[in-house]
Amino acid sequence: MMAQYLEIKADHPGALLFYRMGDFYEMFFDDAVAAAEALDIALTKRGKHDGDDIPMCGVPVHAAESYLLTLIRKGFRVAVCEQMESPEEAKKRGYKAVVRREVVRLVTPGTLTEESLLEPRRHNYLAAYAQVRDEGALAWVDISTGAFRVVGCGPEMLGPQLARLAPREVLLSERAEPFQAETVSDLGASATFASPESFDSESGRARLCAALGVKTLDAFGTFGRAELSALGAIVAYLELTQKGQLPLLRPPVAEDLGGVMQIDAATRRNLELTRSLSGGREGSLIAAIDRTLTAGGGRLLERRISAPSRKLAEVQRRLDTVEWALDAALRERLRDALRRVPDMDRALSRLALDRGGPRDLAAVRNGLAQAEVLAETLRGEVPELVAEAAEALRGHGELADLLDAALVAEPPLLARDGGFIAAGYEAELDDARTLRDEGRGVIARMQAGFIEQTGIAALKIKHNNVLGYFIETTATHADKMMKPPLSEVFIHRQTTANAIRFTTVELSELETRILNAAGRSLEIEKRLYSSLRQAVLDASAGVGGAARALAELDLACALADLASGEGWVRPVVDEGRAFEVEAGRHPVVEAALRREGGQTFVANDCGLSDGGDGAHIWLLTGPNMAGKSTFLRQNALIALLAQAGSFVPAKRAHVGLVSSLFSRVGAADDLARGRSTFMVEMVETAAILNQADDRSLVILDEIGRGTATYDGLSIAWAVMEHLHDVNRARALFATHYHEMTALSAKLNGAENATVAVKEWGGDVIFLHEVRMGAAEASYGVQVAKLAGLPDAVVARARMVLEQLEKGEREGGDKARLIDDLPLFAAMPKQAPAPLKPEADALKERLAGVLPDELTPREALEIIYELKRLA
Ligand code: ADP
Repeated sequence: MMAQYLEIKADHPGALLFYRMGDFYEMFFDDAVAAAEALDIALTKRGKHDGDDIPMCGVPVHAAESYLLTLIRKGFRVAVCEQMESPEEAKKRGYKAVVRREVVRLVTPGTLTEESLLEPRRHNYLAAYAQVRDEGALAWVDISTGAFRVVGCGPEMLGPQLARLAPREVLLSERAEPFQAETVSDLGASATFASPESFDSESGRARLCAALGVKTLDAFGTFGRAELSALGAIVAYLELTQKGQLPLLRPPVAEDLGGVMQIDAATRRNLELTRSLSGGREGSLIAAIDRTLTAGGGRLLERRISAPSRKLAEVQRRLDTVEWALDAALRERLRDALRRVPDMDRALSRLALDRGGPRDLAAVRNGLAQAEVLAETLRGEVPELVAEAAEALRGHGELADLLDAALVAEPPLLARDGGFIAAGYEAELDDARTLRDEGRGVIARMQAGFIEQTGIAALKIKHNNVLGYFIETTATHADKMMKPPLSEVFIHRQTTANAIRFTTVELSELETRILNAAGRSLEIEKRLYSSLRQAVLDASAGVGGAARALAELDLACALADLASGEGWVRPVVDEGRAFEVEAGRHPVVEAALRREGGQTFVANDCGLSDGGDGAHIWLLTGPNMAGKSTFLRQNALIALLAQAGSFVPAKRAHVGLVSSLFSRVGAADDLARGRSTFMVEMVETAAILNQADDRSLVILDEIGRGTATYDGLSIAWAVMEHLHDVNRARALFATHYHEMTALSAKLNGAENATVAVKEWGGDVIFLHEVRMGAAEASYGVQVAKLAGLPDAVVARARMVLEQLEKGEREGGDKARLIDDLPLFAAMPKQAPAPLKPEADALKERLAGVLPDELTPREALEIIYELKRLA
């Protein structure tokens, strides 16, 4: 057996081998050590190899899925090796023959199909990146739904495209340049290397044709060499991991990069589209707006948010659908049916991989039944997308009726034990079942008969796997049965410690009949399962189409529900370059404020009309915490939501199609890659300046913050000029450098705006209102105070600020003033530990006082302050 194990293991390097032994999957050697640690299960030993103990651990087969999940999450790949025959069959081949075993599947992050291993509302993509000379292409598949796509994609676009799809696993050629693997792991996916042969474009074409059962791919469009290479690599990998059992692949669709809004990885992260900065779904845009009722609808929303359209007609079609679903009565009717829709896509894919069961058949049945109901609701005048959906929902009556007649209401998960075919569907099955069940009744009657015949009330007919059915009595009564006349009927079988067992001719005949009937009914059920599965697979294109239509309707209803519940409006979208928002809101911040139950969200306008005379850049100043970032992001989200086909959180919005969305927001150190905050900021800014055009929307927050004041200011200044003159993008630019407001006067496409605050008794009150004009002051000191900085520090900061401002008012040049700063900077190196805290505070405050610099008024104020401190 060990020889067999080692042979199989050698064929699957890089994967843990789950070696089936009876009711367990066992692991040996290093696999056992790694798995025991990862799963926190006991590590034991079994036998010896080359004189050493063999480490071993195992998981029960019935609980294997949850262990698999843990292993996959921890980055392992698992080869599942099954017994291909029973021990009895093996013995027939020879006294010491080892049971034949084969790896039936390689479980990897990108090839999961089990319900328990997948997140229902997220796609689980496997991607492949190929480069053929200077052409690049990225292909991806969700084997749990069959979606199969490819996009031409130069190496510079690999990061953004991967960021959009968030695949779990990416195939790269062993010859790929190292940066590709780096890009993959940066995005948290696992990189898998495949041989250059599996990336060969010509064999890729052949493999695709074979997988799709066609002679040529012409019907699906034309594919370049790189595209064929990427698509082919995916098929090759599926063949490898699924061991020949190919999933249902939909024909590959070539996506046009120009058709969707381009959003790079940093922007996606910053805007927290599908994941929040802390990593989870919680706090993301999608979590705040997802009101879909079906898993398919949830996945469609994820796709739309990740890739908003850039095609006007498409956007309008989607918006028309949402508008249509605003009718509350209609929507409730639709949602009532949608609530009962199971995940047909994934059921279908499990059936195709022969990993499904009766419950998947039932999912198709239930889904089609609701499709029928929905199609009825969709008669009459409906928007284009709805009409298409209705078309896809109709015409599945035959399959639906078949499944309906064949299956019981709530079938079991596995076909193995039978019990899923409805009574009355197949006469032969009904007969076998009657016999089987009657047999049990007959046994009970027979027992009563024996009791009467023998006069032994304690006599029982029992069953076990060794003897089958037998009659059991206690030893005291048995004597009677061993003597004539009873011994002529009752044949002794076995004597145990406290019972004697018998059988009769009649009983063993009945047993054979019962066994045969049970076996036969199981066989018939299995045969029916295969034919039903085949019937579903034959109709898979139509069923898949219905599933997509259901997702589309679900999403339209969900977005309409959101729009009417939250007061969102239909945006005006056109080919122009307008960007006008009246009373816009940030959906996530608004929801958070509502949850906390304190402040209400303050809606704000934004107007970045087209380049001509009007402004197309707003320079936004205002203190920290005033709401600058929120304002920036909310406008980016409004553009994104509009093109995703959703209504938007505003009173009115006019969005000229945005081709690409860029953001530079916040500053998170990328320590993992050894880059400083400032470096990350500059890399992201460079990407924007190199790529943004007059169709882009750009939001930039606090450029230059990560370096010295003058450096930072100069960089911010130059960046804004470049955006204005060269990129000519619509942009929002937030900064705390007041000096920048002067720039707006010089650039005719730029305007100043500020987030208003009120000063009140030395404190600052945030109004969160965006107004035209420049901020009066930065209120940094007041904000610091709010944050709980020690009073002494706040007081000294205030003093430094006064000095600087005074110098400026009196025309002192700034460079000199800053040269003077060491004077203040030297201050903190002070007195030893105090005895009394008050005395300490007083001392510290006094140390910050520079009598030579004070006006009489300031001196007076300081005296008051000292008095308070004492
Ligand atoms: P800044 O970028 O100016 O430092 P933020 O945009 O991070 O400020 O906003 C700080 C906080 O102010 C937010 O977390 C939010 O709670 C609140 N806030 C921002 N904008 C608004 C608004 N329009 N209405 C109400 N509260 C807001």
